[in-house]
Amino acid sequence: MATVDLKDIRKIYPGGFEAVKKVDLAIKDGALCVLVGPSGCGKSTLLRMIAGLETITEGEILIDGREVNELGPAERDIAMVFQNYALYPHMSVYDNMAYGLRNRRMAKPEIDKRVREAAATLELDHLLTRRPRELSGGQRQRVAMGRAIVRSPKVFLFDEPLSNLDAKLRGQMRVEIKNLQRSLGVTSVYVTHDQLEAMTLADVLVVMNAGNVEQIGAPLDIYEKPATLFVASFIGAPPMNLLPLKRGEGRAALADGTEIGGKGLSLSREAATLGIRPENLVLAAADGADGLDATFDIVVRAIEPVGAESFVYGDAGKTRLVVRVAGKTIVEPGAHMRIGASAADLHIFDEAGKRI
Ligand code: ATP
Repeated sequence: MATVDLKDIRKIYPGGFEAVKKVDLAIKDGALCVLVGPSGCGKSTLLRMIAGLETITEGEILIDGREVNELGPAERDIAMVFQNYALYPHMSVYDNMAYGLRNRRMAKPEIDKRVREAAATLELDHLLTRRPRELSGGQRQRVAMGRAIVRSPKVFLFDEPLSNLDAKLRGQMRVEIKNLQRSLGVTSVYVTHDQLEAMTLADVLVVMNAGNVEQIGAPLDIYEKPATLFVASFIGAPPMNLLPLKRGEGRAALADGTEIGGKGLSLSREAATLGIRPENLVLAAADGADGLDATFDIVVRAIEPVGAESFVYGDAGKTRLVVRVAGKTIVEPGAHMRIGASAADLHIFDEAGKRI
């Protein structure tokens, strides 16, 4: 087990593109840290630098307090699980798992013990003689995990390990990886572009955008208090409603002039953005007796029933909003509704996208 520390890490690729800009991150012993962000944000580059597969332009990487900048991947005591599994097709499951240990000239009985233990943990015992092509996607993924586990590394690195699986299997494997990581207690860094996967797996979530870290924290803290507009719109599905505001007379209004009802908001600047999660918008009383701080008259445009909940899409002036409603809804397109939220559920961001 080990800590992983990134100190002002920067990566400029040959050709001059700055893929990672001064990332500072301290990962505690045994934690599962998830790097999440859209395609191209630099998360794989960061992971590959931790792995030793990519050079570091500036900064320091420490594993267990030791600087590893100049060490090759094999010397860092890490194990990596990739999205394409990288299994050897001509080898059995057993041999795929034993391969790395044989290369290190580990004694045969020790190799056998480790492979069988890992196979039991991963419920692969009955598949040890099969070839990868004779396995399901989930089983292949487990073999890739097994190959990492048998090495008892200090750190696990996962690069989108579930992205080749269908949605249902991804959900199952997510739970398996979380349980496995917990029980083994191995410090792990996990890269994904899937915010749901990130939220459910992470002890520590790192949200990245365009080479920068936007926010670091516990998943629910980030969900409840996104530090920037980017994080607000990236974490959560459907995403947070974002409404452009202007100061107005006495109280803030939507940027297109549409009135905001309820107790109202005051704004100390000319413009800002108001964020409200779909589940925090509720039906408002017509007489304002509900005590809501911000209400909006919307015209319903569409309804999306998805079983346990429905999403109602409507327009407040020129701004499209989505409301999450439990169960079914009897609302029809064209209906006029008044919806609103309490002050505790309002997120306000300045012109630069920073939370106020
Ligand atoms: P994805 O989810 O699509 O894999 P990512 O967040 O992991 O995206 P990276 O693979 O880290 O992104 O790439 C970050 C940026 O660096 C991208 O804009 C990419 O085009 C660029 N990049 C990656 N590898 C190189 C390279 N070898 N040379 C130049 N630019 C590169």
